[in-house]
Amino acid sequence: MKPLLSFEHISCYFSTSFGELQAVRDVSLDLYEGEIFGLIGETGSGKSVLGLTALQLLPANARVTGEVRFENKSLLQLSEKEMRHVRGKKIALIPQNPASSLNPVLKIRTQLREAVRHQKELKDKDGYLASWLQAVSFSYPIKLLQSYPFQLSGGMKQRILTIMGAAGQPKLLIADEPTKGLDAPARHDVVEALRNVCRQTGTTLLVITHDLHVAQILCDRIGVMYAGRLVESNDTDSLFATPGHPYTEALLLARPTAGMKPMAGDSPNLLQVPSGCAFHPRCSYASEMCVEQLPPWTEYGQKKYARCFLHAPST
Ligand code: SF4
Ligand code: MG
Repeated sequence: MKPLLSFEHISCYFSTSFGELQAVRDVSLDLYEGEIFGLIGETGSGKSVLGLTALQLLPANARVTGEVRFENKSLLQLSEKEMRHVRGKKIALIPQNPASSLNPVLKIRTQLREAVRHQKELKDKDGYLASWLQAVSFSYPIKLLQSYPFQLSGGMKQRILTIMGAAGQPKLLIADEPTKGLDAPARHDVVEALRNVCRQTGTTLLVITHDLHVAQILCDRIGVMYAGRLVESNDTDSLFATPGHPYTEALLLARPTAGMKPMAGDSPNLLQVPSGCAFHPRCSYASEMCVEQLPPWTEYGQKKYARCFLHAPST
């Protein structure tokens, strides 16, 4: 199977007043058509930055090396004008903050119609939008189209943003922390909305989240990032049953349902990332080799990959 989107050796640097900071380190990853792929990891692990490289939406002080391939085309070489034909139509972003992403003075109908403006063949735009609203469990779509954002809860706004991304029928949707700040019932509704939208249309979804529960119930496969590196990629069930990387294991043990065992040590400082395996100061399996050398990316089972010496072929 050919991937829909490939990150190939992506590194991303930000120039800051403290010096250059590397947020993403040599990440290669393939996403396949129709799958829901989750990127998890702590704040600052590089997951959002990696996602945004696909849309060239990083701030001006960012520098990206490597390649992003989409439908076999190289995205990083495209001009801003060419990128505008990709954004929204081929790859759409569901942004992180619903409150600031919806225009407070425009009705939902106006904002959703804007999202489908290039679909000239659509005769009944309101009917089309109403069917999307039903797909994300809004019971009164016509009433909803007449509302203003301030009349909606955070979870409802997030579902509207899901439609805004999906209604243009892109091949790939990228959702950055789609459940951030929502209570459990709203989180559940947003997860359902994302799943329904993707399953109905065959849209591929890259979901960036630090919520392990959301990743578990929504994703087919999951990638785990730590200090800018991809440290594990695995099938969701397998990742939760038998995590391949000690960092993933520690994340799982810190969940409320697993007794909330706090992870040892501090989050890495991106200006001074530890040598070798960056997780070594916090890892209970660390050996001298982990301090000195970067462990290789190793396939240790079917569709199971980890960057850890515990899985590396012995040298
Ligand atoms: Fe731990 Fe070493 Fe594996 Fe890193 S490479 S996760 S320090 S065992
Ligand atoms: Mg983020």
